[in-house]
Parts: sequence; structure tokens; C-alpha cells
Amino acid sequence: MNKRIISSFKPATLPEIVDRFWTRVDRSAGAEGCWPWVAGKSGCGYGTLGVNWTDQYVHRLSYEMNFGPIPDGMCVCHHCDNPPCVNPLHLFLGTVGDNVRDMVQKGRWRRPIPRRESGNIA
Ligand SMILES: [Zn+2]
Repeated sequence: MNKRIISSFKPATLPEIVDRFWTRVDRSAGAEGCWPWVAGKSGCGYGTLGVNWTDQYVHRLSYEMNFGPIPDGMCVCHHCDNPPCVNPLHLFLGTVGDNVRDMVQKGRWRRPIPRRESGNIA
């Protein structure tokens, strides 16, 4: 898995990716609103963009473009609970555990959480 999506690109390819990225985002809601991805989406509703021949989650791309590389093992979560949203103001870094806790708190997790005895993710 390629965690550092943007930072691993050759500099010459980055503007092209940024260009392709923003033409597929609906920013009509204004700076504070949700900016939904209007192009391809994964089964879970997260936007995806083909980069270096693989589909990347666009909320992760948005985070990297605005805040820098995502540390290994970290997730990019949504304050707004809107999977296609790529507004960087709505994104925050969390661990896998944070993400699950966040989902539980917001009632988005309906299945029991599997126990992982050997799960030292961090
Ligand atoms: Zn949002």
C-alpha cells in the first residue's frame, strides 16, 4: 500500500494531478460547506481518482495536498460524515482506532467490533 500518495510523485506530474482533482470537485457550497467529489466513487461512497494506474481515495489526496504526507497507519477521517467530501477543513487525521470510535459515536457502526488480540496497529 502506498501511503504517501502525493509526496512520491515526480514534481512534474503533481500540477496535472491537482488540476484533474479540482475539476472533479463541487465547491458551490462555499468555503465552509462540503465539497463533494463528483467523479468516480468506491462502493463505500468515497471518491477515487486514478493516480499512477491505481485508484486513490480523494479525501486522502486532499489531505496530502493541504497538510502534507499522511503518517503510516493513520486514517483521514471526516468531521462531516460525508464520505465524498474533500474539503480539507472537514478532514482530520486519526488512527484506525479513532476512526472506529468515531463511527461508533456517530452510530455508523452497526456490526460488533472484532476483537484483535495481536492488533498493535500503532
Ligand atoms: Zn464535508
